[in-house]
Amino acid sequence: MSKGYMGRILWVDLTKRHFHDEKPDAAVYEQFLGGYGLAAKFIFDRQKPGLSAFHEDNILAMMSGLLTNGRAIFNGRWMLAGKSPLTGTWGDANCGGDLAPAIKESGYDGIFFTGKSAKPVYLLIDGDRKELLDASGLWGKQDAVETENTLRARHGDDFRVACIGAGGENLSLIAGVVNAKGRLAARSGLGALMGSKNLKAVCLRGDHRVRVHDEATVWKHTTEFLTGLETDLNDFGKSMKQGGTAATLTDSTQSGDSPIGNWLGVGSTDFPPDKANRINLFSVTQYETRKYHCYGCPFGCGGLCMIPDEPLLKETHRPEYETLCGFGAQLLVDDVKSIFMVNELLNRAGIDTISCATTINWAFEAFDKGILTEKDTGGLALTWGNHEAVVALVKKIVAGEGIGAILCNGVMRSAEHFSDTERAAPMHVHGQELPMHDSRSPNGGLDLGVGYETEPTPGRHTSTFSGWDQYLKTDRPKNKLFDKFRLKSRYEKPEDDDHEKQGERLWGSSCAEDIINGAGLCNFGFYLGPVPPLVEWLNATTGWRKTYQEYLLIGQRIKTVRHAFNIREGIDVANMRMPERARGNPPLTHGPNAYSGNVLQWDDAKRDYYRAMGWDETTAMPLRKTLRDLQLPEVEKALYGE
Ligand code: SF4
Repeated sequence: MSKGYMGRILWVDLTKRHFHDEKPDAAVYEQFLGGYGLAAKFIFDRQKPGLSAFHEDNILAMMSGLLTNGRAIFNGRWMLAGKSPLTGTWGDANCGGDLAPAIKESGYDGIFFTGKSAKPVYLLIDGDRKELLDASGLWGKQDAVETENTLRARHGDDFRVACIGAGGENLSLIAGVVNAKGRLAARSGLGALMGSKNLKAVCLRGDHRVRVHDEATVWKHTTEFLTGLETDLNDFGKSMKQGGTAATLTDSTQSGDSPIGNWLGVGSTDFPPDKANRINLFSVTQYETRKYHCYGCPFGCGGLCMIPDEPLLKETHRPEYETLCGFGAQLLVDDVKSIFMVNELLNRAGIDTISCATTINWAFEAFDKGILTEKDTGGLALTWGNHEAVVALVKKIVAGEGIGAILCNGVMRSAEHFSDTERAAPMHVHGQELPMHDSRSPNGGLDLGVGYETEPTPGRHTSTFSGWDQYLKTDRPKNKLFDKFRLKSRYEKPEDDDHEKQGERLWGSSCAEDIINGAGLCNFGFYLGPVPPLVEWLNATTGWRKTYQEYLLIGQRIKTVRHAFNIREGIDVANMRMPERARGNPPLTHGPNAYSGNVLQWDDAKRDYYRAMGWDETTAMPLRKTLRDLQLPEVEKALYGE
């Protein structure tokens, strides 16, 4: 097989303790690439619709990307996919670290788990040996970092591990899966799906090699791109290299990108630069002891830090923007050490920092409004800026104790539990907590909002934001993020009222994201200045001769299958909506996101997007013609019958 993929997937039936290799046709890869594209194909085809969240027949997929282990770079993302216990929709989650290459070195493009083990186990793959081993000594006793240390000490330091912590074991609906000692495939609650199967970890080592169609050509494009990374980094790239996404914190809080105070506040007045700077790039990198790279990434935006006098923080990941905003700016907390602590506690527990922060923001607003009292919180005063209360609350969530047993299931269920979904706003779309990017922002808010409401993984912020299509399809100009694209504000009408053009723009940026995730690439590789040679990498790796437009159609196919999964689950996809607050109702009265008198354009933009996707503009149902054009007969049958 000389096409970049291994040509095999592994099925692990945890009930029967049975392994089965499957060799997908070459056409399947050509239609779905790898990563969550391949997962979408198999989960849609093989999973019964309508299963309850933890039914043992739910499939959990752990995937590498099509370009992983080839000669491209930024190619080490691994993905989880399955029916989300948090939302009941299609769910996926994405992570760097070092698991993706280990999946391929084990001989597979992805591992699909079905069934449920009678007792806690972990999957060991060592070369061609596969076993399910007893994990009872780990379950309930070791967090994710300790588990990885134990398994590598037991089997060898060259094994790669992904595991759940307390979050997944306790079936917290905001749990993810942890790799590389604290990096999470966090979203969609898929750690709980893994926990429901009594699967504590996977531990992989192998020596299978990927063979690519034309290695010299892949490498030629890679070396040109590497040169560009040395000479043409844009400002964003330079600051990312210094401190990862922490670099964006101060600007985001002042520009209106960061929601503040559960989306009620305004950064420039409630969290001005003197506060933001206490948790920004320099405030976190002062504790940095070394940089690190994901597999296959020459850039290395990660950092390990050490906080003196904190035994738990002797070696801890530098918090990224989402965590700094969610537990800092949003809560009006400017104590950076408390954010380090929260980050470490959640990473070890394998709980999504975005979902947890959004849930805690709701709790703080609820406390402010008297919906929650100290009787509910176990004596904690959830007052804005109270960083000690934040840390204490996170500990309760990790342990599933007291109010933590409610909050650990996310913001929608927390608000429902306390019978208040009105006065304090639970900021989620269809159950998934909104991330730290404000849909009311004049810079990109329109596209963000469309993504939050239309993406099959609801509330996702990496779907329709960046206008990938505009810079990939033609002459590869240098990419200066934020001025290369004319980002759309939430009330801006399409240019010349051209709805077709707007739909095409959204279609392109949305479908491009599904190519990126099929390929297993890191989104950040596309922001830094020089543009990754995506099409050249894919063609030279596989031997295909596709144009960018043809790859976009593959992206459209993957997106449509994920979307159809939701329809088949009975979800009213056209009505997945942000909370009114995120739609600017009521509007903010000051700051960059304030407005008056403008007509909000999300609904128009969504219709434009649906039309461009070939979905009904009112119901969002994929049209029969679209399904035929995309060669998706199984989806047509599922949605329309014979
Ligand atoms: S840019 Fe950062 S997150 Fe992306 S692959 Fe490189 S080190 Fe990992």
